[in-house]
Amino acid sequence: MSYEDKNLTCVECNTTFVFSADDQSFHSQKGYTDPKRCTSCRAARRSGGGGYGGGGGGGYGGQREMHPAVCAECNKDTEVPFLPTGDRPVYCSDCFSKRPAPSSQRW
Ligand SMILES: [Zn+2]
Ligand SMILES: [Zn+2]
Repeated sequence: MSYEDKNLTCVECNTTFVFSADDQSFHSQKGYTDPKRCTSCRAARRSGGGGYGGGGGGGYGGQREMHPAVCAECNKDTEVPFLPTGDRPVYCSDCFSKRPAPSSQRW
């Protein structure tokens, strides 16, 4: 039985690709049907996922905006990651870390 190269159209990307005589012979031996996808689409499927777009990164800005403030404990100039409103004391990082855990504070 002899085969001739034949042109097939990829169902994925609509590209015309050659289903070669060798491949046809191989496919019929294995009982496979004609391939539906071109070699590059098959390769992309096999490599798993392919075209996974971007990834993003979750949009975590990293650096937060800092606001100047004065520490209520040592009166040192400091910066805090929130806007000081004046109704609660602001501490520099030194004093803040020396303070007891927030759960034991009574606001
Ligand atoms: Zn294709
Ligand atoms: Zn301080």
